Amino acid sequence: MNIILFGPPGAGKGTQANNLVKDYNLFKISTGDLLREEIKNETTVGKKVKSPISQGSLVSDLIIIQLLEKVVSNKNYSNRMIFDGYPRNLNQVKNLETLIKKYDQKISCILSLKVDLDLVIKRILGRKICSNCGNIFNEFFNPPTPNNHKCDPKFLQKRLDDNENIIKNRFTTYEKETLPILNYYNDKKLLHQIDGMKEIDQIYGQIRGIIDSLEAWLSK
Ligand SMILES: [Zn+2]
Repeated sequence: MNIILFGPPGAGKGTQANNLVKDYNLFKISTGDLLREEIKNETTVGKKVKSPISQGSLVSDLIIIQLLEKVVSNKNYSNRMIFDGYPRNLNQVKNLETLIKKYDQKISCILSLKVDLDLVIKRILGRKICSNCGNIFNEFFNPPTPNNHKCDPKFLQKRLDDNENIIKNRFTTYEKETLPILNYYNDKKLLHQIDGMKEIDQIYGQIRGIIDSLEAWLSK
C-alpha cells in the first residue's frame, strides 16, 4: 500500500499521516524532511541545496527524485509509503510514477482532505500553544478554560507568522497547484475525497474505511 496524502495547510494532514503511520506500519515520506536530513548530514546533496533553501528557492526536480529514489529503492519501505507534500505538479506526478514503476510498485490511493478556507483560518488563527505545558488549544473549537488548563493564561501564545492573508494565499496556491493533480488521479480512479470539516477522529474514521476496504481488495 503506497498512499499519497493531499490537504491544504490547516487541514490536519500531519495528524492523519501520523495516525496512518502508527496503525498501518507505514513510513511517511516528506521531501522537506529528506532535504533537511541531507543538510544535517552534510552530504553532497545537502551542501548543494543548503543555500538555495535558506533563500526560499525551490530545489530542482532532479535532486528531489534522486532523494526519493533512495527511499523507493529501499526494500524496507517497499509498498509501505505515505507521500506527504509530494507530488506538487504534474511533472512530479510523472516522475514519481516512473520511479515507483521502476521498483515494481504502484500508488494504491490518493487521499485528499477537503476543507473550507473559513475553517482553515479558524483552525490556524485560533491556535494557542502554552509555552509552559506544551498543550495546544483553539479559541474557536477548544478554548482553554480553568477546567482543562491549569497554567497561568500568560503562557498562552499564538504563532506570530500566521495571519489571514498569508493563510488565504497559501490556500489559493494549494488549490491551484493540486487541482490538475487531483483530476489526473480521479481519471485513474485512485482519488478519494475526505471530508476534512469533521472532527479529527471522524476524519480518521473515513480514512480507515477507505484503507481497510482497499487492503481487503488487495489481499483477495
Ligand atoms: Zn499550560
